[in-house]
Amino acid sequence: MTRPAGSPSEVRGGSPIAQPLGAADGVTDAVEAVDDDSAVDCETCGCCCAFSWEWPTFVGDRDGEGIPEYLTEDGRMRCDGDRCAALFGTVGVEVHCRVYPDRPLVCREFAAGSPACRAVRRHFGLGQGTAR
Ligand code: SF4
Ligand code: SF4
Repeated sequence: MTRPAGSPSEVRGGSPIAQPLGAADGVTDAVEAVDDDSAVDCETCGCCCAFSWEWPTFVGDRDGEGIPEYLTEDGRMRCDGDRCAALFGTVGVEVHCRVYPDRPLVCREFAAGSPACRAVRRHFGLGQGTAR
């Protein structure tokens, strides 16, 4: 299967998903794809968690510890289509990560408001904004 054009690994420049989801600090505003100054809100986004059938991938031996096996496969999170199996909710409306405390390293490193974040949000037609 080919990676969809503009998938996270092509746009992230390091890591996709980030502080998405989660109550503490943050995943996935479905509106127009326009540049604006409004803040992006991970809890109403989730784009970076629904952008690739093969992401996120675990990095190192301990990454992924604590995540139930049924949510993983082949050294990465299991995906349903392009969507991480741990993502709960509706992208662009309201979402959260079922494994937030144990989420993979690349998810932790993915920065809201970063160029990669803006790229995936643009892909889903969401505002580009900045992190709040
Ligand atoms: S794409 Fe950006 S705003 Fe959306 S969940 Fe990921 S880091 Fe948060
Ligand atoms: S593990 Fe959580 S933060 Fe990482 S891609 Fe899946 S739903 Fe998003």
